[in-house]
Amino acid sequence: MSTTEATNALSFADLGLSDSLLKTLTDIGYETPSPIQAECIPVLLQGRDLIGQAQTGTGKTAAFALPLMEQIDVKLTKPQALVLTPTRELAIQVAEALQSYAKNLPGFHVLPIYGGQSYTIQLKQLSRGAHIIVGTPGRVMDHIERKTLNLDHLKTMVLDEADEMLRMGFIDDVEWILERTPAQHQTALFSATMPEQIRRVAQKYLVDPREIKIKSATATVAAIRQVYWQVSGMHKLDALTRILEVEDNFDAAIIFVRTKNATVELADKLSARGYAAAALNGDLNQQMRERVIEQLKSGALDIVVATDVAARGIDVPRVSHVVNYDIPYDTEAYVHRIGRTGRAGRTGNAILFVAPREVSMLRSIERATRQPIAPLTLPSRADVTNKRVTDFKAGVVEVLNAEGLDFFANIVAQIAEEQNVGAEEIAAALAMMCQKGKPLQIPGEDPVARPLPAADTRRPGSFGERDRKPRSEDRGDSRPRFDDRTASKPRFEGGGESRPRSEDKPRRAMAPSSDMITYRIDVGRDHGVQVKDIVGAIANEAGIESRFIGRIGLYDESSTVELPAGMPAEAANALKRTRVRGVPINMRPDEGRPDDGGDRKSDGERKFKKKPASY
Ligand code: AMP
Repeated sequence: MSTTEATNALSFADLGLSDSLLKTLTDIGYETPSPIQAECIPVLLQGRDLIGQAQTGTGKTAAFALPLMEQIDVKLTKPQALVLTPTRELAIQVAEALQSYAKNLPGFHVLPIYGGQSYTIQLKQLSRGAHIIVGTPGRVMDHIERKTLNLDHLKTMVLDEADEMLRMGFIDDVEWILERTPAQHQTALFSATMPEQIRRVAQKYLVDPREIKIKSATATVAAIRQVYWQVSGMHKLDALTRILEVEDNFDAAIIFVRTKNATVELADKLSARGYAAAALNGDLNQQMRERVIEQLKSGALDIVVATDVAARGIDVPRVSHVVNYDIPYDTEAYVHRIGRTGRAGRTGNAILFVAPREVSMLRSIERATRQPIAPLTLPSRADVTNKRVTDFKAGVVEVLNAEGLDFFANIVAQIAEEQNVGAEEIAAALAMMCQKGKPLQIPGEDPVARPLPAADTRRPGSFGERDRKPRSEDRGDSRPRFDDRTASKPRFEGGGESRPRSEDKPRRAMAPSSDMITYRIDVGRDHGVQVKDIVGAIANEAGIESRFIGRIGLYDESSTVELPAGMPAEAANALKRTRVRGVPINMRPDEGRPDDGGDRKSDGERKFKKKPASY
């Protein structure tokens, strides 16, 4: 097993990637490989099997995606790689990442296939030919069975977030697919944790795999105030400026982002909002870099937007704040970043932006630094207004105390006489003039705060809070969402997420209400089906969030499921065709007697009396 310590200084060129891909990475703005990339890319390029233990946010997608790109023969329009992901959102994200790395590979095709999407579209796309397929296990299985997905030319298979696939009850499907892949192929398995069942799958299907684990070094951080804001309901940029505006003791900040391009973009946007900000990235030569740091020291700049590499070792005592605008890849990077503040005996502040899908990284950081990171309540509009008014008043008082005002007092007296108005009104008019373009009040609504799940509620084999959400949420998109707390009624949405819940936690004891309909499905205990399998399949195939899935009654040959009324035809059709553990579920409104489970076996009497397992 290897860890990451020795590899931090490597460049992408050192890893053996082709010039064309290196150029793409420069275009995208990736400066250096993340630790998991530095470790995995050379191994995968050699064609070896690999087990990568890393969570979201470590850069694991590129760790397998870049070697995949190197192996693709564009002239052969057959699936050469298959990536299995637990959710449709992840399938789409991975496909998007692959497409972005194919910038200099004309003719390259990646196809995401997932439950809930129309078969007609998928069949058309599959028949056109794709080089890489990224899909959820159920739908991939379906296409293999229908012979619409042919894996004869498969060179590489990637299992992404294998532990999530296990939690969601897809592991049998995954094995079913692995059984049907050509004997000669490379397999890479990525998982944040390594439960026993995942180890077993790895032992069975991977050949002499290299194991790579991203070490979470424990570290002590100096007395720095650490807070996080969960990205939701507001754009990150708006949240950033709000936070910076009301932070006490703000003097200067280093803001960390992931890419070179993002340093420039964010610095430009902050400059446009009136901040003295500049970018610091690997494109700057030594002289330019020193100049930026000098300007930060002297106060000519208040904000530097930097990548990890460019900010290494910066020692500027007036940096009162470090903002992790993009979460770091690992805990070590976090510790380095926040070490840029709280220098020379001053107090430091570290603010971390955490997208919902990055919660596990937040918890890792807390564990590694052995310090809790407190949630930060986004300043309200009233907070910002109060701060601006306070600062404005302080500015006026400063001028009153310090400047010779006779000349202006004379002008005010003239206006008062000419216009027949009082000094107060004139002062108000002057204040308004001063604030033109810098309003004291901000328009709009305050977003609703959304708490994160408590620390360490997740454990292998149980369903904790799912942390992968649609991309819109990562971007702080303020559009209403399916799972908005303000939403009073469940709605159906094509791009919904799956969020299975704990198996050992009782499912909501919900009285069958007029808003819920009970459906019957043709899988039950006899098929080895568990509640989590049903929840996972419904969530994924119909895009119904698991908290909107009501009681599940598990019988021997069939089961019942309560779902919100008003399911759109598309979702209902998807569920008719859905399979659980390879068995078509044939979902339909339940017409059977509510207490017998509809299992009319020969020993029906006993079954008739048996209560369903309710969750
Ligand atoms: P992942 O952990 O794969 O979900 O990646 C998280 C984010 O990091 C994505 O937005 C990637 O585009 C970004 N990323 C991955 N590798 C790098 C890199 N070497 N440099 C900068 N950004 C990266």
